[in-house]
Amino acid sequence: MLDESPGQYARRAIDTPEAGPDEVAVRIVASALNHMDLWLTRGLPKPHLPHVPGCDGAGIVDAVGADVSGVAPGDEVVINPAVSCRRCRWCLAGEAPLCDSFQILGEQRWGAHGQVVVVPRENVVTRPSNRTWEECAAYPLATLTAWRMVRRARLHAGETLLVVGVGGGVSAAGLVLGVAMGARVFATSRDASKRDAARALGAEDAFDSDADFPIKADVVLENVGPATWTRSLRALTKGGRLVTCGGTSGPKVELNLPRLFFAQHEIIGSTMGSYEEFAQVTELVAGGLPVVVDETLPLSDYPAALERLESAKQLGKIVLTHSA
Ligand code: ZN
Repeated sequence: MLDESPGQYARRAIDTPEAGPDEVAVRIVASALNHMDLWLTRGLPKPHLPHVPGCDGAGIVDAVGADVSGVAPGDEVVINPAVSCRRCRWCLAGEAPLCDSFQILGEQRWGAHGQVVVVPRENVVTRPSNRTWEECAAYPLATLTAWRMVRRARLHAGETLLVVGVGGGVSAAGLVLGVAMGARVFATSRDASKRDAARALGAEDAFDSDADFPIKADVVLENVGPATWTRSLRALTKGGRLVTCGGTSGPKVELNLPRLFFAQHEIIGSTMGSYEEFAQVTELVAGGLPVVVDETLPLSDYPAALERLESAKQLGKIVLTHSA
């Protein structure tokens, strides 16, 4: 629970939230951390208070609203963290992240590090029963975000993809998606053991994030920001596309305009994804797409999990298990 922002999380009891007519209440079995958990403690963004964090979760349906069909108590589900109206021009065009009422679970809505979370009926899908609860909690936000990124960057089989800073959840998901799509994938990390892990996940090679990247890529997947930005742009081939969903090292970067236009580079912003894209990533996960789980801890170890995320020691997702 967050009572002040900026502020620190504290664990305490709250009334169990109830599902509205078209909503579903899910008892969480496992949830996963995201950088959002950290941003909220810094007041960037500042949530409605008090606030329950947690963008990712999977669990068992506890109750459904009067107008809900197709989902029943006892169903095992994964929660899609991207909530939108599904009716406006953006939603109808498959551009849900641009919806005026777009919300992210754990940001504008109470999230999945609580015992029970309430979401619209459309935001639960049957969990892939061949995957663990931890994997089901680990894939939603990161894989959805990475999937939209590679699609917006028009990555296709045979192209070269460079994933910068492979430790984060979105980057790790981008790596496995690139491999699954038939791209030649390269990765960067400051950490030698993460570079080895990237190769084990299917990267052709992995380089130090602090030195110039010795390849040219058709697509660069970025979410580090200022710490790697210039090297990421230099790694683009002529006509290459850089796609970014954020900056864990800060919000501002510099741009060399002649380099941009002479090489006809594209810089593409992307965030979260649509309901259709969530259905696609769920299908990919059910079909065996690797889900990179760094570590699983009990919910009571949330402070230690946050510390691990803040110090960037992880490779992939940090998952919390909730006791029944
Ligand atoms: Zn909409």
